[in-house]
Amino acid sequence: MVRETKYYDLLEVTPSVSEADLKKAYRKKALRLHPDKGGDPELFKEVTHAYEVLSDPDKRSIYDARGEAGLSEQGGMGGMDAQDLFSQLFGGGGFFGGPGGRSQGPRKTKDLVHRVHVTLEDLYKGKTTKLSLTRNIICVKCKGKGGKDGAVRPCQVCHGRGVKTQLRQMGPMIQQIQMPCDECSGLGEVINAKDRCQQCKGKKVVPEKKILEVHIDKGMKGGQTVVFQGESDQSPNAEPGDVVIVVEEKPHDKFRRQENDLIIDVEIHLLIALTGGQFAIRHLDDRALVVNLEPGEVVKHGDVKVIHGQGMPSQRHHEPGDLYVKLGVKFPETIDPAAIPLLKEALPAVEPLPTFEKNIILEEVHLDDVDTRSRGGFRDDPMDADPDGDQPRVQCANQ
Ligand SMILES: [Zn+2]
Ligand SMILES: [Zn+2]
Repeated sequence: MVRETKYYDLLEVTPSVSEADLKKAYRKKALRLHPDKGGDPELFKEVTHAYEVLSDPDKRSIYDARGEAGLSEQGGMGGMDAQDLFSQLFGGGGFFGGPGGRSQGPRKTKDLVHRVHVTLEDLYKGKTTKLSLTRNIICVKCKGKGGKDGAVRPCQVCHGRGVKTQLRQMGPMIQQIQMPCDECSGLGEVINAKDRCQQCKGKKVVPEKKILEVHIDKGMKGGQTVVFQGESDQSPNAEPGDVVIVVEEKPHDKFRRQENDLIIDVEIHLLIALTGGQFAIRHLDDRALVVNLEPGEVVKHGDVKVIHGQGMPSQRHHEPGDLYVKLGVKFPETIDPAAIPLLKEALPAVEPLPTFEKNIILEEVHLDDVDTRSRGGFRDDPMDADPDGDQPRVQCANQ
């Protein structure tokens, strides 16, 4: 379930769009809206930003879970500007006014995105897990300068910009292409080898291991994020980005989840289905639920019942959803013929065959088992359909 659809709407796609279709949709819109073709530059930027987010699986899951607000908390604009992205997709460079069009706001280092796979039990009860990560911190020895005072000089070749520009004729257009400066490897500055800090070898930062405690709240859902602000890489000329933990829900072998409700399949003995009795459901915590079926009430195969208040806790107030129980009846393989008269006595009488008109010929046929591999379009009872609808329907392989 996505919170906002604005970015999807900008690209005129649905939230379930595939990566390939997303790219196609962006190409189509970007070409139409490009300022060189008289498009609105602001709208072009917005569409491009939407694509930038949705084409990055990590940013897309943050957007789906928390909307635009979730991204801006993490300095989501920092990555790439419209021009860069357009160039990357279509090749070539400067369409609008050359360099200097970078986005506003303080620069931040890239967010570190981690995925944690969490069981349904953990999401039911809540859990704290420790996560070890390695990130760069400012070198203590040189205080992030890379060497002794005065050892760092701007690169003469690129004048400290770190990039060099080249003009290239492409058909009727002249394109400006930016490349990293090879003299300074794009850093914009040089340090003589002998003056480099021994600790960080002139890199200004050193890797450091850090343990983060991640609190998985009761009732969290897959796609939600836990953000550690400013815990990403440190850098002398940018603010640290965030560590973003994306929660992934592992599939459970018994329960399925629908928002805060749970669904379980339970198979009960035919005798219990007919005469009442008890069955038990092992829950996600340290309990088992014992269910009483009253005598006289018959459970049919495929019946769905609900146990109120036994679903997942909601995240905010921990109010539980419901537990839906899909009942299946386990029939015996055979019946002792000696018991049949007793069954006949207990069960309602069988209706006789209908009578047909005289001209109808009665033909006796045999009931065979269905070969499941060649069922083709045969589909089970609709209750068996996948409740999320996200599994592709099996199609007949040989058309
Ligand atoms: Zn250093
Ligand atoms: Zn340079």
